[in-house]
This record gives sequence, C-alpha cells and structure tokens, in this order.
Amino acid sequence: MGQFTRWQIGTVRITKVQETEVHWPWRALVPEVTPELLEQTPWMRPHFVDEAGKMIRSMHALVIESQGRTIIVDTCIGNDKVRPTRGFNDLHTDFLDQLAAAGFGTDAVDTVFCTHLHVDHVGWNTRLVDGKWVPTFPNARHLFARTEYDHWVANPEPEIFGDVFGDSVVPVVEAGLADFVDMDHRITDEVWLEPTPGHTPGHCSVHISSGGLDAVITGDMTHSPIQFAYPLTSSADSDSSVANRTRQEFVARYTDTPTLIIGTHFGGPTAGRIVRDGDVLRFDC
Ligand SMILES: [Zn+2]
Repeated sequence: MGQFTRWQIGTVRITKVQETEVHWPWRALVPEVTPELLEQTPWMRPHFVDEAGKMIRSMHALVIESQGRTIIVDTCIGNDKVRPTRGFNDLHTDFLDQLAAAGFGTDAVDTVFCTHLHVDHVGWNTRLVDGKWVPTFPNARHLFARTEYDHWVANPEPEIFGDVFGDSVVPVVEAGLADFVDMDHRITDEVWLEPTPGHTPGHCSVHISSGGLDAVITGDMTHSPIQFAYPLTSSADSDSSVANRTRQEFVARYTDTPTLIIGTHFGGPTAGRIVRDGDVLRFDC
C-alpha cells in the first residue's frame, strides 16, 4: 500500500488513487499559457508541465476517510465508455484494482461525491456488466449538487462528448442511490462542500478540517496550479466570468495560509500551498 500518495489532516486521511495521466497542449484547456509564461514559472516543472511544454493532467480519485465514512471524491473516466475525447475513449485501466490495493473495496465505499458532472469526474460511478451500466459502488449514497444535476437535465451535453449523463449518472439515480444536496452540504463534521461555481453552474470543491488543520480539494475550479499565479481562463469553463471570480476569491482566501490545496488534476505531488513570492504567487509543493 506504500505506493499511494496520502495526506493526514487531523484525524482525516485522504488517499490519491490514479486512473491515468494525459499530456495535452495548453490550447486544449488553458489557451493563455504560453512558453514565455512557463519561463516565468519554473516551479511548474517537472510535475505540472512536461519536457515538451505540454500540460500534465492527472486523472485520479481522492478517497477521504472521516469519522468512519469512506468518501470518494470524483470517479475519473471509467472503463469501456464510448468517449470521442482523445485519451478518454474505451479505457481498460486497473483503477478498481488500484482502489482495492489502497484498501478500498467497492462495497466499502459509502459515499461518492462528484465535484461536477463532466466526463472525467463521473466515469466509475458505473461499470459495464452483461451489457448494462450498473453502479460500481452499490452501498454508496451518490451526492450530486442539486444545481449541478438540474443544469445537466435541462442542458444535455452534445452527443459528440458521449452519453456521459446517460451511462454514468442516470443508472445510480435509477438504482435509488442518489441524494441531491445543497452546494454547502456537510458530509461529516470534518468534510463539507465549498461552492466554487463557474466551471459548471453547480461545481463544488470539498473542504476538510480536522485537528486545527485544513485542506481543500479543488475539483476543476482550477485545472493547473499556474491558474493560482495568473488569472487564466479555462476553455472548459461554462461561465468564464463566474469561474474567474471564483478563482480570484479562492486565491484571496487561501494564499499564505496553512490550508493544503489538493488538485483534482494536478500531477506529481498533487498538493501544496499558494504562497506569495515577491510580486507573484506560486504553488509550493
Ligand atoms: Zn476534469
């Protein structure tokens, strides 16, 4: 079990279980990142940008153990799914074996929370059994922010992205395993949702607080820590002005505080702190 990255926040333990990693040109997601900007942010190497200058994008779930609960935050891309997006289609990873090796059998997970309902955050909600999509975590309540769920019901994703909602969200709802919650919902005394809208309308980060220590799981409020240092828009944000304001408020709230920022797509050590370094900010791992 030693190969897993874990963090201890008071009595809460958080474990990173990686599904895959993709290297994308910045223009695919944060198009304002230029080679010049990367020159000015040497701390981005080697964990967040590769030797070719591409964005390193880790796909991982974060498992929170708090007060007897086992909570998975985001369930990655999943296996066997028809996904036109490069690097996402028809995967056959050993994610569930990795999850088990980290100590989490699928039956033991009691809570699943998806920060938002994009393709790379809901995939392992279901798996293919005898040609049908069935819940991967049959004993888990699946929490969806009501605002987020209602948005996707009213505004279905274009079919070119694959039937994400139909194959990875609807089956857990139909199985009676879903709960629709407010964007500041408390999961335990130590773990609660922190509203960070803009990437999607009901997007939530996850705050962990225990024993005087704090951590926040970003979700896709930021795709890369370079967005803490510069106000860079993500092309995947549904409302860029709301997303930019959310990021500014997040950076103002946590810069130069002890709060550990755990990135949902950050590679390498994945977690760090936002610190002021002269006139600029950087992510200190
Ligand atoms: Zn994502």
